[in-house]
Amino acid sequence: MSFDTSEFNEGYAENIYSTIVELSPLPVYVCAGKDMTVIVANKATLKAWGKDKSVIGRKFRDALPEMADQPFFDLLTRVYTTGVAYHTENDRADFLMDDRMQTFYFKFSYQPLRSRDGAIWGVLCIATDVTDLVLANKRAEESESRFKSLILQAPVALCVLKGPEYIVEVANAEVLEIWGVLEEQVLNKPLFEGIPEAKGQGLESLLHEVYTTGEVILEEERYVDLPKNGGTERKAINFVYAPYYEIDRTITGVMAAAVDVTDQVLGRQRVEEANKQLEKTQLRLALALQAGRLGTYERNLNTGKMLSSSQFKANFGFPPNRDVSVNDIMEGILPEYLAKVTEVQSQFEKDDVVYNIEFPVKWPDGTIHWVLVSGNTIQNELGERIISGVSQDITEQKLLQQQKDDFIGIASHELKTPITSLKASLQLLERLKNNPASPKLPALIDQANSSLKKVTVLIEDLLNTTRMKEGQLELKKTKFVLSKLINDCCQHVRALGTHDIVAEGDLDLEVYADSNRLDQVLINLVNNAIKYAPQSKLVVIKIKKADNQAKVSVIDKGPGIPKEKQAHLFDRYYRANENGQPYAGLGLGLYISSEIIKKHDGKIGVESETGKGSTFWFEIPLGLDKDEV
Ligand code: ADP
Repeated sequence: MSFDTSEFNEGYAENIYSTIVELSPLPVYVCAGKDMTVIVANKATLKAWGKDKSVIGRKFRDALPEMADQPFFDLLTRVYTTGVAYHTENDRADFLMDDRMQTFYFKFSYQPLRSRDGAIWGVLCIATDVTDLVLANKRAEESESRFKSLILQAPVALCVLKGPEYIVEVANAEVLEIWGVLEEQVLNKPLFEGIPEAKGQGLESLLHEVYTTGEVILEEERYVDLPKNGGTERKAINFVYAPYYEIDRTITGVMAAAVDVTDQVLGRQRVEEANKQLEKTQLRLALALQAGRLGTYERNLNTGKMLSSSQFKANFGFPPNRDVSVNDIMEGILPEYLAKVTEVQSQFEKDDVVYNIEFPVKWPDGTIHWVLVSGNTIQNELGERIISGVSQDITEQKLLQQQKDDFIGIASHELKTPITSLKASLQLLERLKNNPASPKLPALIDQANSSLKKVTVLIEDLLNTTRMKEGQLELKKTKFVLSKLINDCCQHVRALGTHDIVAEGDLDLEVYADSNRLDQVLINLVNNAIKYAPQSKLVVIKIKKADNQAKVSVIDKGPGIPKEKQAHLFDRYYRANENGQPYAGLGLGLYISSEIIKKHDGKIGVESETGKGSTFWFEIPLGLDKDEV
């Protein structure tokens, strides 16, 4: 269809204009005359005002009474009277809509309308509803400020660092405290300018990574040196760096949240350190208890319950998995000691003193053992009284003590016999001193000498023992033929004529050793064979070479020694036949011998069977290579 220009006249154009105005989505209205009579108001205007067509032809004030206290009427009047147009970007207008006042924002302009002669007859208003835009902006602003106040009030340290220089935009009190600075030192400044102390500790690269890649970085217990009283202080910090996004998803900064965990870390380290120390102490204590074979126990005086270690149970002859009560302990105590133990116990429970008590107990297997129990009272966390202490098996010490006591008795007795005999000889000699021709003299002198020799030997043994105990045994080694030593040392026995001493084996074997000391060992072994096996006429001494060792065995066919006693023969003061021992001795010979052999890096031992005889042997390195050096 073509446009018929003949139909186009002024009226037609006006018609088009009014249609355009009517249909415009922008509110358009015209007020005429001084009273501002609304003569045009398009659909959009009516909608914005919340009115219908009836407002057209009415005065602005009458048509829109709810707007009386808003500036529009005055603005319209001003444009009407001054002829100066009015423009605004987003003015607020409140309209009565759906029976309530609602707020809108408009960008609008008021234009004066003039007649041909230039006189103003009305005002044209064209408006754009910018309510949504304004509200969105307001919301954005509000949320921005709410976000800031959230950061400022947050109970954890938070801050926002903007731009590639990390300008501190917001930083709450907690973050300032961690940083060790005042707000004015850092706010709106690049972070590392505000806190130069934080530079060069790797934080720059972390921030850069978050800022450029948008990755979130989490660090735990990271040590950072931060300002403190003019210097710096090392703090352990847990922190998160997260990108700070704008609405369009561009990253404009970094948001950081941090927690100062220095105290926790230090506290934990202290606890760990204390635990380590405790473990060490416990280990040391356990080792000490183990080394001293000390048992431990705890007895709760309020509940009567007792807890004890395996060693404690072992000290009383109980297996480790057995529950041991105070009663079990009491039952084991030998009856003659029970009263004493009970008395010490009750005294202790009353007076809270440290106690130490020794007593013998009968183990469930019937054997007798001495134990030392000590204790002290402590209070546990419940306020109950606990006796805590240790136990020790002191049977060996007790036996040793016993042996020592016995030894003194024996030694006195042993010394007394030859001394009495010496005294008798001397008395007789005294009587004969003016009679040098008496035929009794030589025999008496021999007797005196022999008694003196016995005393000397005994004293010699005692001295040797003391010296050995103090580690003063020095060896003077030379090279010699072993069998020659055997021959020499057995002269005195052969002279007696009671026993046959026969040397056999490797009679040419040479050793590098202390001949005087080995002589002592041999005399001991041979003397013992004669003393304890008087019926065995034959004593064989065997010499054998094995590897680089010389082995010497002294064999008798005497009564032998029971198996259970053999292990103790080389102990100090030990005598196999303590009770009713018919033979003199101090129980030192084998002890001294074993010390001499040990000093030669050798071994000493016994093989014996009761009724069949004993073989005492020792083995020492030939040591010849050393001699040649
Ligand atoms: P002493 O002879 O002074 O008692 P020793 O140390 O020489 O001390 O010997 C320890 C114990 O070993 C002796 O008391 C004895 O009971 C036993 N004994 C040593 N040699 C023999 C042996 N040849 N036969 C039997 N018993 C022996």
